[in-house]
Formats: sequence, structure tokens, C-alpha cells
Amino acid sequence: MHRIGLGTDIHRLVEGRRLVLGGVTIDSDLGAEGHSDADALTHAITDALLGALALGDIGSHFPNSDERWRNAESFVFLRFAVGLVKQHGYSVVNIDSTVHLEMPKLQPYIQSMKDGIAEAVEVETNCVSIKAKTSESVDAVGEGRAIRADVVVLLMKNEI
Ligand SMILES: [Zn+2]
Repeated sequence: MHRIGLGTDIHRLVEGRRLVLGGVTIDSDLGAEGHSDADALTHAITDALLGALALGDIGSHFPNSDERWRNAESFVFLRFAVGLVKQHGYSVVNIDSTVHLEMPKLQPYIQSMKDGIAEAVEVETNCVSIKAKTSESVDAVGEGRAIRADVVVLLMKNEI
């Protein structure tokens, strides 16, 4: 039996913040604003995993009113969701994602992002896809004011 999950996330880009994506710090003039490290890709993957299990969303498990999660490394949230996947008897089959960002180019960082995510969700690196797109100067992403990530995950029930 399979289950599919969708995750999407957006963060405002501001000065004076780090830009973290998929657990990797990106060299950028602007960073993502948020309560945790504001890692949009990791948040979207976490939401997709929770969604596949119909177990709410990242905000219901890690409220941004909770001081424990201020500047938290978002892989904590991802590992928590992976724990729930295992607890419910599922494994991740694959992850497909698109990061929407106007600048900088993400290509130099994609491989290390894939490696880190694959390790966290316990799949081979070739089961993690990360695509990077600009928004052609249209909308908040295109104007360089935001970063967005869209993610789909597939889970498979483990053999008993
Ligand atoms: Zn987020």
C-alpha cells in the first residue's frame, strides 16, 4: 500500500538572516525570515511526510509560538516526521521537489542538499529530486522577496 503527500512552504527574504535550504547554508545577500532556521525545503518535505500520514502539519507539531523552536535547525522537524513514518510502518519511496528562488543559483548546492535529505529520510540519494526554478521576475518570488518550496513524497507500507 502506498500513500502520497504534498508539502508547500514560503518564507520572506530579508537582510540579516541566513539562507538555509535542505539543511545547507546558501551564500546569499538575503536570508529567509522565520521562527526556526526558516528552511523552506525542509519544512515542505516535513509537511509532505505528515500529509502522507494525515497527521496534521508542521505548525501543529512545532508551533512557532514555542520558544524551543526559535532558530531551530529544521532537520529536527524532518527527523521527527521520519520517526512517525517508521512508527506507522511506512518507508519513504521517493521525494520530488521544486525550490522557487530568483537568486542565487542553487545548482552548486543541490548535491549536498540531496545527500543530507536522503540520509535524514533513509533513502538512496537517487530517490531525492531537487529542482530549482526562478519565477521570471513575476510575483513575490520573481521580485526576490520570497522563497518557496513545493514537495511531493511517496510512502510505501513495509512488509510485515
Ligand atoms: Zn517554513
